[in-house]
Amino acid sequence: MAASPITTLIFDVDDTLYDVGNGFTVHRNNSAPRMMVEKYKFPSEEAAQKVKAEYFSKYHSTAKALKVAQDEGKFPEDAPEVKTEDIATFWAEKLDYTMLGPPKTALHDELSKCNCTLVAFSNGPRKYVKRALETMGLFDLFGEERLYAVDDVMPHCKPEKEAFEKILKNIGNPKPETCVMVEDSMKNIRGAKALGMKTVLIRGSSENGRILKDDKPNSEDPAVDCSMASIEEFFTMLPGLLDTNPVFDPVVADK
Ligand SMILES: [Mg+2]
Repeated sequence: MAASPITTLIFDVDDTLYDVGNGFTVHRNNSAPRMMVEKYKFPSEEAAQKVKAEYFSKYHSTAKALKVAQDEGKFPEDAPEVKTEDIATFWAEKLDYTMLGPPKTALHDELSKCNCTLVAFSNGPRKYVKRALETMGLFDLFGEERLYAVDDVMPHCKPEKEAFEKILKNIGNPKPETCVMVEDSMKNIRGAKALGMKTVLIRGSSENGRILKDDKPNSEDPAVDCSMASIEEFFTMLPGLLDTNPVFDPVVADK
């Protein structure tokens, strides 16, 4: 692949900026049924888990999954309306963020040297995503204005075209082929690729922590331009992104 000019790096957060093997995603996922009992009046965590699992596998976003499940009559009748903000607050307050490990100082330093616009784009709710980025010491690279969460694109979410298009429009309409989407989700990789973006797949250290088994990383997928085990390898694999005029130029045939 010839080196192509790049203006914009768009990072997924969960299982991309931290390793899927640290258990945090399972921890977050397991907290959803408890929230559905406490906030949305489900009779038991088992009943909640059944509905959650069915809809999460379709949308890969708890906020969107629960919203659609409620719209389709899968919630108790007296449940309050699902609001992304309420889910975010529950997660911001009740999750164990120490599982994310110490601040990622080396990654922060490298990213701050990169001459691209840096964007975070998650299917999680804003307050939660912000807390996760702050814990990893990465929030200031994006700030409020370059952090996009599911709140910003609802009723859509990744990998829907409308969600990606809204983000691109908001950041000044860079040409998709000058953008790199960094992701662990194959669905989202394919969505970004379909729009013309470059794609980087973060494979993770193990499959133990992954929630959606049918969405597990596949470097051989034609939508993947470059893949690596962890985000810490990002600039080793793509050194051209640290050039004054950044280019997408993967170093080895690790694909
Ligand atoms: Mg992810």
